Formats: sequence, structure tokens, C-alpha cells
Amino acid sequence: MPAGPRTALVTGGSRGIGRAVVERLLADGYDVGYCCRTMPADAADLERLADKHGVRVHGTAVDVTDGTAVRAWLEQAEERLGGLDTLVTNAGIVRDMPLAVMGREHWDAVVGTNLTGTYTVCQAAVMSLMRRRGGSIVAVSSVAGLRGNATQTNYAASKAGIVGFAKSLAKEVARFGIRVNVVAPGLIETDMTAGLDDKARRKVVADIPLRRTGRAEEVADAVAFLASDRAAYITGQVVRIDGGIGI
Ligand code: NAP
Repeated sequence: MPAGPRTALVTGGSRGIGRAVVERLLADGYDVGYCCRTMPADAADLERLADKHGVRVHGTAVDVTDGTAVRAWLEQAEERLGGLDTLVTNAGIVRDMPLAVMGREHWDAVVGTNLTGTYTVCQAAVMSLMRRRGGSIVAVSSVAGLRGNATQTNYAASKAGIVGFAKSLAKEVARFGIRVNVVAPGLIETDMTAGLDDKARRKVVADIPLRRTGRAEEVADAVAFLASDRAAYITGQVVRIDGGIGI
């Protein structure tokens, strides 16, 4: 990591885990660019937070499934921020249902956003990281990708795919000084999981050794660690932030 201000790009930075990552990185002194499909009404709060920490933040409406828009975003963001040190691929969606009724559109939407979206963003950024011979990528997977989950064949496949993608990329770009790691969150309280009814939530929590759901900030702390020089000798790893559900 070079001396001076550091820069990070975060996909899906408007809400939930991505938002917490943006806030954490701003507090850690990064200039941050983030994207989402629809700019949030409270985007100005992030600008105020950036001002408070003496850094910059810039949000852009970009769909990670649109390769042309992603490449334009990366070019503009790098120009605006003056380079790229860290990339966090976090944008993701769910379309849960049993496989028996899962139409191709539900498969394509989830795999297209979560897995192909990760490819699209990393592919657009990797050359620039290779040129500067350094930097780090943190991809957001899920415990569902490691353990499987009924009604989530599309989601689990996309999240397992991210693990294979990241491990392969870690091997490919290590000689350029670039690290690639994965976080696999368990049940984290965000809009994505807000629809879970009380009975289902209680059932999941009963299986979590720490007996509670997780907070977006707890995932953001792990992402920020993996992105930073403190993790300089860690690459190709999957860090679970799941209250021990995978033990
Ligand atoms: P969330 O609250 O629903 O937020 C999702 C974020 O991704 C939003 O900023 C959303 O932007 C963005 N996004 C979705 N599709 C996009 C696209 N095509 N292009 C650009 N941005 C897009 O979800 P979350 O719970 O924070 O989840 C974040 C990541 O963590 C996801 O990859 C998810 O699979 C993973 N994860 C979550 C949990 C959990 O329990 N919450 C557990 C394991 C893994 P818009 O507002 O514009 O749609």
C-alpha cells in the first residue's frame, strides 16, 4: 500500500453491509467511491461523515450487471479519487424459492448480480491494480455458499462461485502484490434479512453458538481488516463472520 491517502471502491454501498463498509473505510481514512442501483435518499449523510474524517466519498448509480457502466464507473472513480487501492465487491440480491418452482429468470438474476457482477467489477479493476503492483480485493460471499441453504440454490451457487473465483484470482495476481480475500457473513440484520419471520429467525438463532444475529458493522470491521496492510500476509482466505454457525 502506498503512503498517503488510500482509495477504495465498494459495490452496493448504499445500504446494509456495503454501507457499513463505506462508513468504516471513511473512518479509516480512505477516499471511497461506491455504487448501487438507486442512489439513497440519505447519501448526504455519507458526505458529512467523509467531511468529518477529512476524506472524500462519491456515490454513483451503477448496476453491476452492466459491464459498460461498470467500466465507465471504475475509470471515472479512479480519475476522481486518484487511483485504486481496495475493491470491495458486495452488491448482492436474493430470490429465495424451492428449486421446483425456480424459473430461469430467478436463477439468472441472482447469479448475474452476485457472481457475474463480481467478475464484471473485478475484471474491470484488475488491470489497474496489476499496473500499480499492489492493492487488495475483498469479495462478500455468504455462509450459504459454504453450507448450502434450502430455497437458496441460486444464491448459494452464486456465493460458492465467489469463493472459487476469489481463490483462483488470489493465485493469479499474488505475484503483482495483490491480495484477494472473502468474507462469509451469517445472518446479518439488513434489509435483505428483514423479511424473515419471527419463527424462522428464532430457529436460525438457536443454531448460532453466539445466540444472536450479526450487525453490518461487524462484517465491515472484518472487511476493513482484510483490505488493510494489517492483513498483508493473508490472501485467498474465507473469513466467516457468523457467530460460529459453521463450527
Ligand atoms: P441489502 O441491505 O439488500 O443491500 C444490498 C446492496 O447491494 C444495496 O446497496 C443495493 O443497491 C446493492 N445492489 C443490489 N443489486 C445491485 C446491482 N445489480 N448493482 C449495484 N448494486 C446492487 O443487502 P445486505 O444484507 O447488505 O447484503 C450485502 C452483501 O452481503 C450481499 O452480497 C449479500 O449476499 C451478502 N450477505 C448478506 C447477509 C445478510 O444476512 N444480510 C449474509 C451473508 C451475505 P440498491 O439499493 O440500489 O438496490
